[in-house]
Amino acid sequence: MKCPFCGYTESKVVDSRATEENVSIRRRRECLKCNKRYTTYEQIENIPVLVIKKNMSREYFDRTKMINGIIKACEKRPVSRNQIENIADEVEKNINNQMLTEVSSEYIGEMIMDNLKKIDEVSYVRFASVYRQFTDVNTFIDEIKRLISNK
Ligand SMILES: [Zn+2]
Repeated sequence: MKCPFCGYTESKVVDSRATEENVSIRRRRECLKCNKRYTTYEQIENIPVLVIKKNMSREYFDRTKMINGIIKACEKRPVSRNQIENIADEVEKNINNQMLTEVSSEYIGEMIMDNLKKIDEVSYVRFASVYRQFTDVNTFIDEIKRLISNK
């Protein structure tokens, strides 16, 4: 960090405190060359993940929205809220591990389906039918056939 007065890069921290909202740390620094003081702010890097939709528009990744979609597919099925949260965790972990800043809605859908398939097949088919937007009844039947033959 360069001193704003003389450009020297070495400084010492004379005071350090969290900001009111606790989202950053404010540090008072003293330049080791000119001894003038200046302030720096340290912040946690929090890059929002964008979801690329089918029409190529982007929206913020929204965990609540994702969970609501899963809940809808699991309606009246023996799937607990906890299992649904776990699926959401898996998806988020996957995105974070790959350090993705943009992810397609299809990819998120596939991840949810992979996890849902292991828990409850009815919920899985329901979710798939919404997500893949089966254009006709035949594609939907194909999917169910594929599911049965995979057993
Ligand atoms: Zn200086």
